[in-house]
Amino acid sequence: MDAKVRVRFAPSPTGGLHLGGVRTVLFNYLFAKHNNGEFILRIEDTDQTRFVPGAEQYIQDTLAWCGLTPDESPLHGGPYGPYRQSERKAMYKQYADKLIAQGNAYYAFDTPEDLDNKRKEVPNFQYSRAHRMDMKNSLSLSKEEVDELLKNNTPHVIRIKVPENEEVSLEDVIRGQVSFDTNMVDDKVLLKADGMPTYHLAVVVDDHLMKITHAFRGEEWLPSAPVHVLLWKYLFGLEQMPKWAHLPLILKPDGNGKLSKRDGERLGFPVFAMDWFDPNTNTTTIGFKERGFVPEAFVNLLAMLGWNDGTDKEIYTIEELIAGFSLDRVHKGGAKFDYEKAKWFNGEWIKKMENEKLAALVQPYFDKEGIEIHDKAYLVKVIGLVKERCQLLPDFITQSSFYFKAPTQIDTASVAPKWDAKKTEFFTELAAIYNSKIESGVITAPAIDLEAAFKDLVAKHELKPGELMLPFRIMLVGGKFGPGVFEIVETIELKETIARIQYSLQLLS
Ligand code: GLU
Repeated sequence: MDAKVRVRFAPSPTGGLHLGGVRTVLFNYLFAKHNNGEFILRIEDTDQTRFVPGAEQYIQDTLAWCGLTPDESPLHGGPYGPYRQSERKAMYKQYADKLIAQGNAYYAFDTPEDLDNKRKEVPNFQYSRAHRMDMKNSLSLSKEEVDELLKNNTPHVIRIKVPENEEVSLEDVIRGQVSFDTNMVDDKVLLKADGMPTYHLAVVVDDHLMKITHAFRGEEWLPSAPVHVLLWKYLFGLEQMPKWAHLPLILKPDGNGKLSKRDGERLGFPVFAMDWFDPNTNTTTIGFKERGFVPEAFVNLLAMLGWNDGTDKEIYTIEELIAGFSLDRVHKGGAKFDYEKAKWFNGEWIKKMENEKLAALVQPYFDKEGIEIHDKAYLVKVIGLVKERCQLLPDFITQSSFYFKAPTQIDTASVAPKWDAKKTEFFTELAAIYNSKIESGVITAPAIDLEAAFKDLVAKHELKPGELMLPFRIMLVGGKFGPGVFEIVETIELKETIARIQYSLQLLS
Protein backbone atom coordinates (compact mmCIF):
# COMPACT_ATOMS: atom_id res chain seq x y z
CA MET A 1 0.00 0.00 0.00
CA ASP A 2 1.18 3.52 -0.76
CA ALA A 3 2.35 5.63 2.16
CA LYS A 4 -0.21 7.97 3.64
CA VAL A 5 -0.33 11.27 1.75
CA ARG A 6 1.48 13.99 3.68
CA VAL A 7 1.83 17.48 2.24
CA ARG A 8 3.25 20.67 3.65
CA PHE A 9 2.93 24.40 3.30
CA ALA A 10 6.32 25.79 4.19
CA PRO A 11 6.25 29.59 4.27
CA SER A 12 9.03 31.85 5.43
CA PRO A 13 7.46 34.28 7.89
CA THR A 14 8.52 37.46 6.16
CA GLY A 15 5.28 39.34 5.59
CA GLY A 16 1.64 39.16 4.59
CA LEU A 17 0.32 36.14 2.71
CA HIS A 18 -0.16 36.85 -0.94
CA LEU A 19 -3.07 35.34 -2.88
CA GLY A 20 -0.63 32.92 -4.50
CA GLY A 21 0.56 31.75 -1.09
CA VAL A 22 -2.95 31.08 0.13
CA ARG A 23 -3.73 29.23 -3.07
CA THR A 24 -0.68 27.04 -2.43
CA VAL A 25 -2.11 26.33 1.04
CA LEU A 26 -5.47 25.52 -0.51
CA PHE A 27 -4.17 23.12 -3.14
CA ASN A 28 -2.08 21.35 -0.49
CA TYR A 29 -5.10 21.13 1.78
CA LEU A 30 -7.48 19.93 -0.93
CA PHE A 31 -5.04 17.29 -2.14
CA ALA A 32 -4.43 16.05 1.41
CA LYS A 33 -8.12 15.90 2.31
CA HIS A 34 -9.11 14.35 -1.02
CA ASN A 35 -6.63 11.55 -0.30
CA ASN A 36 -7.37 11.20 3.42
CA GLY A 37 -3.92 12.52 4.05
CA GLU A 38 -2.33 15.06 6.35
CA PHE A 39 -1.62 18.72 5.83
CA ILE A 40 1.35 20.16 7.67
CA LEU A 41 2.31 23.78 8.28
CA ARG A 42 6.05 24.18 8.65
CA ILE A 43 7.56 27.57 9.36
CA GLU A 44 10.79 28.07 7.42
CA ASP A 45 12.46 30.72 9.52
CA THR A 46 16.13 29.89 9.15
CA ASP A 47 16.96 33.22 7.56
CA GLN A 48 17.08 35.34 10.69
CA THR A 49 17.90 38.47 8.69
CA ARG A 50 14.45 38.29 7.14
CA PHE A 51 12.60 37.64 10.39
CA VAL A 52 9.54 39.86 10.74
CA PRO A 53 7.69 39.93 14.08
CA GLY A 54 4.06 38.98 13.73
CA ALA A 55 4.43 37.26 10.37
CA GLU A 56 4.04 33.72 11.72
CA GLN A 57 0.99 34.68 13.74
CA TYR A 58 -0.44 36.29 10.61
CA ILE A 59 0.04 33.05 8.66
CA GLN A 60 -1.72 31.05 11.36
CA ASP A 61 -4.55 33.58 11.56
CA THR A 62 -4.99 33.51 7.80
CA LEU A 63 -5.22 29.72 7.71
CA ALA A 64 -7.72 29.86 10.56
CA TRP A 65 -9.82 32.52 8.79
CA CYS A 66 -9.86 30.41 5.61
CA GLY A 67 -10.78 27.30 7.58
CA LEU A 68 -7.72 25.48 6.23
CA THR A 69 -6.62 23.98 9.52
CA PRO A 70 -3.34 22.08 9.50
CA ASP A 71 -3.17 18.63 11.04
CA GLU A 72 0.32 19.42 12.30
CA SER A 73 1.85 22.86 12.88
CA PRO A 74 3.78 24.88 15.48
CA LEU A 75 0.39 25.65 17.03
CA HIS A 76 -1.22 22.22 16.74
CA GLY A 77 1.93 20.17 17.38
CA GLY A 78 2.29 16.67 15.96
CA PRO A 79 4.60 13.65 15.91
CA TYR A 80 7.26 15.19 13.63
CA GLY A 81 7.86 18.47 15.45
CA PRO A 82 9.15 20.97 16.12
CA TYR A 83 7.48 22.60 13.11
CA ARG A 84 9.59 25.74 13.20
CA GLN A 85 12.93 25.24 11.48
CA SER A 86 14.79 27.59 13.82
CA GLU A 87 13.93 25.12 16.62
CA ARG A 88 15.36 22.24 14.60
CA LYS A 89 18.78 23.85 14.11
CA ALA A 90 20.71 20.97 15.71
CA MET A 91 19.23 18.42 13.30
CA TYR A 92 20.74 19.74 10.10
CA LYS A 93 24.51 19.71 10.66
CA GLN A 94 24.86 15.93 10.44
CA TYR A 95 23.43 16.03 6.91
CA ALA A 96 25.84 18.76 5.86
CA ASP A 97 28.67 16.69 7.35
CA LYS A 98 27.48 13.63 5.47
CA LEU A 99 27.58 15.59 2.22
CA ILE A 100 31.12 16.74 2.98
CA ALA A 101 32.21 13.19 3.77
CA GLN A 102 30.71 11.97 0.49
CA GLY A 103 32.40 14.72 -1.49
CA ASN A 104 29.09 16.35 -2.43
CA ALA A 105 29.75 19.50 -0.43
CA TYR A 106 32.71 21.57 0.68
CA TYR A 107 33.76 24.17 3.21
CA ALA A 108 34.04 27.73 1.95
CA PHE A 109 35.97 30.32 3.94
CA ASP A 110 35.44 33.37 1.74
CA THR A 111 34.69 36.50 3.72
CA PRO A 112 31.90 38.87 2.67
CA GLU A 113 34.63 41.19 1.34
CA ASP A 114 36.16 38.38 -0.75
CA LEU A 115 32.75 37.75 -2.27
CA ASP A 116 32.13 41.44 -2.88
CA ASN A 117 35.47 41.84 -4.60
CA LYS A 118 34.78 38.86 -6.81
CA ARG A 119 31.38 40.26 -7.75
CA LYS A 120 33.03 43.52 -8.77
CA GLU A 121 35.61 41.69 -10.81
CA VAL A 122 33.29 39.22 -12.56
CA PRO A 123 29.98 40.45 -13.98
CA ASN A 124 27.07 38.20 -12.92
CA PHE A 125 29.39 36.24 -10.66
CA GLN A 126 28.07 32.90 -9.49
CA TYR A 127 29.82 30.68 -7.01
CA SER A 128 29.90 27.65 -9.27
CA ARG A 129 32.13 25.33 -11.27
CA ALA A 130 33.46 28.25 -13.31
CA HIS A 131 34.85 30.11 -10.30
CA ARG A 132 34.94 27.80 -7.32
CA MET A 133 38.62 27.04 -7.79
CA ASP A 134 39.46 30.79 -7.63
CA MET A 135 37.83 31.03 -4.23
CA LYS A 136 38.91 30.08 -0.73
CA ASN A 137 37.43 26.68 -0.05
CA SER A 138 38.24 23.07 0.70
CA LEU A 139 38.37 22.28 -3.02
CA SER A 140 40.92 24.98 -3.86
CA LEU A 141 43.04 24.84 -0.69
CA SER A 142 45.28 22.01 0.48
CA LYS A 143 44.06 19.59 3.13
CA GLU A 144 46.55 21.09 5.62
CA GLU A 145 45.31 24.60 5.01
CA VAL A 146 41.72 23.51 5.44
CA ASP A 147 42.47 21.61 8.64
CA GLU A 148 44.25 24.64 10.01
CA LEU A 149 41.37 26.97 9.16
CA LEU A 150 38.86 24.62 10.74
CA LYS A 151 41.01 24.13 13.82
CA ASN A 152 41.13 27.90 14.28
CA ASN A 153 37.35 28.13 13.99
CA THR A 154 37.64 30.31 10.93
CA PRO A 155 34.10 31.34 9.95
CA HIS A 156 32.93 29.21 7.08
CA VAL A 157 29.88 27.96 5.27
CA ILE A 158 29.18 24.62 3.64
CA ARG A 159 28.31 24.68 -0.06
CA ILE A 160 26.91 21.99 -2.28
CA LYS A 161 29.32 20.85 -4.98
CA VAL A 162 27.10 20.84 -8.02
CA PRO A 163 28.41 18.24 -10.50
CA GLU A 164 29.52 19.29 -13.98
CA ASN A 165 27.86 18.29 -17.25
CA GLU A 166 24.94 16.45 -15.75
CA GLU A 167 21.28 16.68 -16.42
CA VAL A 168 19.06 16.74 -13.35
CA SER A 169 15.40 16.14 -13.87
CA LEU A 170 12.24 15.81 -11.93
CA GLU A 171 8.78 14.64 -12.82
CA ASP A 172 6.51 17.56 -11.98
CA VAL A 173 2.90 16.51 -11.48
CA ILE A 174 1.67 19.59 -13.35
CA ARG A 175 4.42 20.19 -15.88
CA GLY A 176 5.70 16.71 -16.63
CA GLN A 177 9.41 16.17 -16.91
CA VAL A 178 11.53 19.25 -16.18
CA SER A 179 15.27 19.04 -16.78
CA PHE A 180 18.14 21.26 -15.74
CA ASP A 181 21.72 21.49 -16.92
CA THR A 182 23.91 21.38 -13.82
CA ASN A 183 26.41 23.69 -15.47
CA MET A 184 23.85 26.45 -14.98
CA VAL A 185 23.38 25.76 -11.28
CA ASP A 186 25.49 27.49 -8.61
CA ASP A 187 27.00 25.96 -5.48
CA LYS A 188 24.35 27.11 -3.02
CA VAL A 189 25.23 27.58 0.62
CA LEU A 190 23.71 24.75 2.69
CA LEU A 191 24.93 25.58 6.18
CA LYS A 192 25.72 29.11 7.23
CA ALA A 193 28.59 30.29 9.41
CA ASP A 194 26.30 30.45 12.45
CA GLY A 195 25.36 26.79 12.02
CA MET A 196 21.89 27.60 10.71
CA PRO A 197 20.93 25.70 7.57
CA THR A 198 19.79 27.62 4.54
CA TYR A 199 16.39 26.99 3.08
CA HIS A 200 17.84 24.54 0.53
CA LEU A 201 19.23 22.10 3.07
CA ALA A 202 16.42 22.53 5.58
CA VAL A 203 13.63 21.98 3.07
CA VAL A 204 15.08 18.67 1.90
CA VAL A 205 15.98 17.39 5.36
CA ASP A 206 12.58 18.32 6.78
CA ASP A 207 10.59 16.96 3.86
CA HIS A 208 12.45 13.71 4.53
CA LEU A 209 12.11 13.70 8.33
CA MET A 210 8.46 14.72 8.16
CA LYS A 211 7.74 11.98 5.62
CA ILE A 212 6.35 14.40 3.06
CA THR A 213 4.98 12.51 0.04
CA HIS A 214 4.04 15.47 -2.17
CA ALA A 215 5.62 18.92 -2.21
CA PHE A 216 3.57 21.65 -3.84
CA ARG A 217 4.87 25.17 -4.08
CA GLY A 218 4.82 28.21 -6.34
CA GLU A 219 6.45 28.14 -9.75
CA GLU A 220 8.99 30.71 -8.55
CA TRP A 221 10.74 27.84 -6.71
CA LEU A 222 11.38 25.84 -9.87
CA PRO A 223 14.91 27.30 -10.37
CA SER A 224 15.84 25.94 -6.92
CA ALA A 225 14.56 22.47 -7.73
CA PRO A 226 17.82 21.07 -9.22
CA VAL A 227 19.64 21.78 -5.95
CA HIS A 228 16.89 20.01 -4.05
CA VAL A 229 16.89 17.01 -6.39
CA LEU A 230 20.68 16.71 -6.00
CA LEU A 231 20.38 16.86 -2.23
CA TRP A 232 17.71 14.18 -2.27
CA LYS A 233 19.94 12.02 -4.44
CA TYR A 234 22.99 12.48 -2.17
CA LEU A 235 21.24 12.23 1.19
CA PHE A 236 18.25 9.94 0.97
CA GLY A 237 17.98 8.46 -2.53
CA LEU A 238 15.72 9.72 -5.31
CA GLU A 239 13.15 6.99 -4.74
CA GLN A 240 12.36 8.67 -1.40
CA MET A 241 11.86 12.11 -2.93
CA PRO A 242 8.36 13.60 -2.70
CA LYS A 243 6.44 14.17 -5.90
CA TRP A 244 6.75 17.80 -6.89
CA ALA A 245 4.15 20.15 -8.25
CA HIS A 246 5.14 23.72 -9.06
CA LEU A 247 1.93 25.71 -9.15
CA PRO A 248 1.44 28.30 -11.88
CA LEU A 249 1.66 31.96 -10.95
CA ILE A 250 -1.29 34.24 -10.37
CA LEU A 251 -0.81 36.95 -12.97
CA LYS A 252 -1.58 40.66 -12.93
CA PRO A 253 -4.88 41.60 -14.56
CA ASP A 254 -3.20 43.89 -17.06
CA GLY A 255 0.00 42.99 -18.87
CA ASN A 256 2.17 40.05 -18.00
CA GLY A 257 3.94 38.82 -14.95
CA LYS A 258 3.23 37.83 -11.40
CA LEU A 259 0.57 39.74 -9.52
CA SER A 260 2.39 41.83 -6.96
CA LYS A 261 1.44 43.83 -3.91
CA ARG A 262 2.25 46.91 -5.97
CA ASP A 263 -0.30 45.93 -8.64
CA GLY A 264 -2.94 45.82 -5.92
CA GLU A 265 -1.95 49.28 -4.71
CA ARG A 266 -1.88 50.61 -8.27
CA LEU A 267 -5.27 49.16 -9.23
CA GLY A 268 -6.95 49.51 -5.84
CA PHE A 269 -7.59 45.95 -4.73
CA PRO A 270 -6.17 43.65 -2.07
CA VAL A 271 -3.48 41.10 -2.82
CA PHE A 272 -3.00 39.85 0.74
CA ALA A 273 -5.48 37.56 2.49
CA MET A 274 -5.89 39.81 5.53
CA ASP A 275 -4.65 43.25 6.53
CA TRP A 276 -0.90 43.08 7.08
CA PHE A 277 0.79 45.57 9.34
CA ASP A 278 4.48 45.67 8.55
CA PRO A 279 6.35 46.64 11.72
CA ASN A 280 9.44 47.55 9.69
CA THR A 281 7.73 50.19 7.60
CA ASN A 282 4.81 50.96 9.92
CA THR A 283 2.43 50.52 7.04
CA THR A 284 -0.69 48.41 6.65
CA THR A 285 -1.50 46.60 3.43
CA ILE A 286 -5.18 45.87 2.96
CA GLY A 287 -6.53 42.35 2.89
CA PHE A 288 -9.48 40.52 1.37
CA LYS A 289 -10.92 39.87 4.80
CA GLU A 290 -11.09 43.52 5.79
CA ARG A 291 -12.35 44.52 2.35
CA GLY A 292 -15.41 42.45 3.18
CA PHE A 293 -14.80 39.08 1.59
CA VAL A 294 -16.25 36.04 3.30
CA PRO A 295 -13.79 33.16 3.70
CA GLU A 296 -15.98 30.71 1.76
CA ALA A 297 -15.86 33.00 -1.28
CA PHE A 298 -12.16 33.72 -0.89
CA VAL A 299 -11.35 30.00 -0.86
CA ASN A 300 -13.72 29.37 -3.76
CA LEU A 301 -12.24 32.09 -5.95
CA LEU A 302 -8.69 30.95 -5.20
CA ALA A 303 -9.52 27.40 -6.21
CA MET A 304 -10.80 28.68 -9.54
CA LEU A 305 -7.54 30.55 -10.17
CA GLY A 306 -5.82 27.68 -11.87
CA TRP A 307 -8.20 24.76 -11.41
CA ASN A 308 -11.59 23.64 -12.68
CA ASP A 309 -13.41 20.35 -12.75
CA GLY A 310 -13.98 20.44 -16.52
CA THR A 311 -17.55 21.78 -16.24
CA ASP A 312 -18.88 25.36 -16.10
CA LYS A 313 -19.53 25.12 -12.38
CA GLU A 314 -17.93 27.96 -10.47
CA ILE A 315 -19.45 28.02 -7.01
CA TYR A 316 -18.04 25.33 -4.76
CA THR A 317 -18.20 24.63 -1.06
CA ILE A 318 -15.01 23.38 0.54
CA GLU A 319 -16.52 19.88 0.74
CA GLU A 320 -17.21 19.96 -3.00
CA LEU A 321 -13.68 21.17 -3.67
CA ILE A 322 -12.21 18.36 -1.58
CA ALA A 323 -14.34 15.80 -3.38
CA GLY A 324 -13.58 17.15 -6.86
CA PHE A 325 -9.96 18.22 -6.57
CA SER A 326 -7.29 16.60 -8.68
CA LEU A 327 -3.90 17.89 -9.71
CA ASP A 328 -4.35 16.86 -13.32
CA ARG A 329 -6.94 19.61 -13.67
CA VAL A 330 -4.56 22.31 -12.44
CA HIS A 331 -3.56 24.43 -15.42
CA LYS A 332 0.04 24.76 -16.48
CA GLY A 333 -0.32 28.40 -17.46
CA GLY A 334 -0.70 31.27 -15.02
CA ALA A 335 -4.18 32.52 -14.13
CA LYS A 336 -4.97 36.22 -14.53
CA PHE A 337 -6.49 37.78 -11.46
CA ASP A 338 -9.72 39.67 -12.05
CA TYR A 339 -10.98 41.69 -9.08
CA GLU A 340 -14.46 42.19 -10.55
CA LYS A 341 -14.79 38.43 -10.84
CA ALA A 342 -13.51 38.03 -7.27
CA LYS A 343 -16.28 40.36 -6.07
CA TRP A 344 -18.80 38.40 -8.09
CA PHE A 345 -17.80 35.24 -6.20
CA ASN A 346 -18.30 37.06 -2.93
CA GLY A 347 -21.72 38.33 -4.03
CA GLU A 348 -22.78 34.79 -4.94
CA TRP A 349 -21.68 33.54 -1.53
CA ILE A 350 -23.50 36.37 0.24
CA LYS A 351 -26.69 35.36 -1.58
CA LYS A 352 -26.20 31.75 -0.48
CA MET A 353 -25.44 32.48 3.14
CA GLU A 354 -27.92 32.32 5.98
CA ASN A 355 -29.11 35.74 7.08
CA GLU A 356 -28.21 35.04 10.73
CA LYS A 357 -24.66 34.22 9.77
CA LEU A 358 -24.39 37.34 7.62
CA ALA A 359 -25.78 39.45 10.46
CA ALA A 360 -22.88 38.40 12.66
CA LEU A 361 -20.38 39.21 9.91
CA VAL A 362 -21.94 42.58 9.09
CA GLN A 363 -22.48 43.78 12.66
CA PRO A 364 -18.86 45.05 13.09
CA TYR A 365 -19.24 47.25 10.01
CA PHE A 366 -22.34 48.85 11.51
CA ASP A 367 -20.50 49.30 14.80
CA LYS A 368 -17.67 51.02 12.97
CA GLU A 369 -20.13 53.40 11.31
CA GLY A 370 -21.70 54.16 14.68
CA ILE A 371 -25.05 52.72 13.58
CA GLU A 372 -26.66 51.12 16.59
CA ILE A 373 -28.60 47.93 16.08
CA HIS A 374 -31.18 47.56 18.82
CA ASP A 375 -32.96 44.56 17.47
CA LYS A 376 -31.01 41.59 16.10
CA ALA A 377 -34.12 40.12 14.46
CA TYR A 378 -34.63 43.41 12.59
CA LEU A 379 -31.03 43.29 11.33
CA VAL A 380 -31.52 39.71 10.12
CA LYS A 381 -34.68 40.76 8.29
CA VAL A 382 -32.97 43.75 6.64
CA ILE A 383 -30.08 41.57 5.53
CA GLY A 384 -32.53 39.30 3.75
CA LEU A 385 -34.00 42.33 1.96
CA VAL A 386 -30.74 43.75 0.63
CA LYS A 387 -28.32 40.84 0.31
CA GLU A 388 -28.99 40.44 -3.42
CA ARG A 389 -27.47 43.88 -3.90
CA CYS A 390 -24.31 43.35 -1.87
CA GLN A 391 -21.03 42.03 -3.19
CA LEU A 392 -18.83 42.97 -0.26
CA LEU A 393 -19.80 43.10 3.41
CA PRO A 394 -19.47 46.92 3.68
CA ASP A 395 -22.05 47.17 0.86
CA PHE A 396 -24.58 46.30 3.56
CA ILE A 397 -23.90 49.72 5.09
CA THR A 398 -24.65 51.65 1.90
CA GLN A 399 -27.50 49.36 0.96
CA SER A 400 -29.23 49.28 4.33
CA SER A 401 -28.18 52.03 6.74
CA PHE A 402 -31.45 53.85 5.91
CA TYR A 403 -33.30 51.02 7.63
CA PHE A 404 -31.66 52.01 10.88
CA LYS A 405 -31.47 55.78 10.64
CA ALA A 406 -32.88 58.46 8.38
CA PRO A 407 -30.56 59.47 5.56
CA THR A 408 -28.75 62.73 6.20
CA GLN A 409 -28.01 63.41 2.54
CA ILE A 410 -31.13 63.62 0.36
CA ASP A 411 -30.57 63.76 -3.37
CA THR A 412 -33.17 66.49 -3.91
CA ALA A 413 -31.27 67.67 -7.01
CA SER A 414 -32.65 64.65 -8.88
CA VAL A 415 -36.27 65.61 -8.25
CA ALA A 416 -36.24 69.39 -7.77
CA PRO A 417 -36.40 70.32 -11.49
CA LYS A 418 -39.75 68.55 -11.93
CA TRP A 419 -41.11 69.33 -8.50
CA ASP A 420 -44.40 71.25 -8.27
CA ALA A 421 -47.20 72.08 -5.82
CA LYS A 422 -49.22 69.04 -6.96
CA LYS A 423 -46.50 66.74 -5.77
CA THR A 424 -46.23 68.52 -2.43
CA GLU A 425 -50.00 68.13 -2.05
CA PHE A 426 -49.80 64.45 -2.92
CA PHE A 427 -47.12 63.65 -0.34
CA THR A 428 -48.79 65.78 2.30
CA GLU A 429 -51.93 63.75 1.87
CA LEU A 430 -49.99 60.47 1.84
CA ALA A 431 -48.43 61.42 5.18
CA ALA A 432 -51.85 62.34 6.54
CA ILE A 433 -53.27 58.97 5.49
CA TYR A 434 -50.41 57.16 7.19
CA ASN A 435 -50.93 59.28 10.26
CA SER A 436 -54.60 58.39 10.49
CA LYS A 437 -53.63 54.72 10.24
CA ILE A 438 -51.24 55.16 13.14
CA GLU A 439 -54.03 56.82 15.12
CA SER A 440 -56.18 53.79 14.55
CA GLY A 441 -53.42 51.60 15.98
CA VAL A 442 -51.71 50.44 12.77
CA ILE A 443 -47.91 50.44 12.85
CA THR A 444 -47.20 49.17 9.40
CA ALA A 445 -48.83 47.25 6.55
CA PRO A 446 -47.75 44.68 3.98
CA ALA A 447 -45.89 46.20 1.02
CA ILE A 448 -48.56 45.00 -1.40
CA ASP A 449 -51.33 46.87 0.46
CA LEU A 450 -49.19 49.97 0.80
CA GLU A 451 -48.59 49.93 -2.91
CA ALA A 452 -52.28 49.55 -3.72
CA ALA A 453 -53.19 52.45 -1.41
CA PHE A 454 -50.44 54.58 -2.96
CA LYS A 455 -51.74 53.91 -6.47
CA ASP A 456 -55.28 54.81 -5.47
CA LEU A 457 -54.06 58.10 -4.15
CA VAL A 458 -52.04 58.73 -7.31
CA ALA A 459 -55.20 58.14 -9.37
CA LYS A 460 -57.20 60.44 -7.17
CA HIS A 461 -54.66 63.21 -7.72
CA GLU A 462 -54.64 62.48 -11.45
CA LEU A 463 -50.88 61.95 -11.46
CA LYS A 464 -48.73 59.16 -12.82
CA PRO A 465 -47.15 56.63 -10.41
CA GLY A 466 -43.87 56.84 -12.34
CA GLU A 467 -43.48 60.53 -11.45
CA LEU A 468 -43.88 59.87 -7.74
CA MET A 469 -42.01 56.65 -7.13
CA LEU A 470 -38.52 58.12 -7.57
CA PRO A 471 -39.17 61.10 -5.27
CA PHE A 472 -40.66 58.72 -2.69
CA ARG A 473 -37.60 56.48 -2.88
CA ILE A 474 -35.25 59.44 -2.50
CA MET A 475 -37.20 60.65 0.53
CA LEU A 476 -36.86 57.26 2.16
CA VAL A 477 -33.27 56.28 1.36
CA GLY A 478 -31.59 59.50 0.22
CA GLY A 479 -30.76 58.36 -3.33
CA LYS A 480 -31.67 56.22 -6.31
CA PHE A 481 -30.99 52.80 -4.80
CA GLY A 482 -32.38 50.17 -2.51
CA PRO A 483 -35.02 47.47 -2.72
CA GLY A 484 -38.73 48.00 -3.51
CA VAL A 485 -40.12 51.27 -2.11
CA PHE A 486 -43.07 49.66 -0.34
CA GLU A 487 -40.90 46.96 1.19
CA ILE A 488 -38.91 49.79 2.71
CA VAL A 489 -42.05 51.48 4.05
CA GLU A 490 -43.27 48.18 5.45
CA THR A 491 -39.95 47.67 7.23
CA ILE A 492 -39.23 51.14 8.58
CA GLU A 493 -42.95 51.48 9.42
CA LEU A 494 -45.40 54.34 9.02
CA LYS A 495 -44.18 56.70 11.71
CA GLU A 496 -40.64 56.81 10.36
CA THR A 497 -41.97 57.08 6.79
CA ILE A 498 -43.98 60.16 7.72
CA ALA A 499 -40.94 61.77 9.32
CA ARG A 500 -38.88 61.22 6.19
CA ILE A 501 -41.61 62.54 3.88
CA GLN A 502 -41.93 65.66 6.00
CA TYR A 503 -38.20 66.25 6.13
CA SER A 504 -37.90 66.06 2.34
CA LEU A 505 -40.96 68.23 1.77
CA GLN A 506 -39.26 70.94 3.80
CA LEU A 507 -36.17 70.67 1.63
CA LEU A 508 -38.22 70.79 -1.58
CA SER A 509 -40.56 73.61 -0.71
N1 GLU B 1 10.13 28.54 2.42
C1 GLU B 1 9.72 28.61 1.05
C2 GLU B 1 8.82 29.84 0.93
O1 GLU B 1 9.03 30.78 1.62
C3 GLU B 1 8.98 27.35 0.68
C4 GLU B 1 9.24 26.79 -0.67
C5 GLU B 1 8.87 25.32 -0.68
O2 GLU B 1 7.69 25.04 -0.43
O3 GLU B 1 9.73 24.49 -0.89
O4 GLU B 1 7.90 29.91 0.16
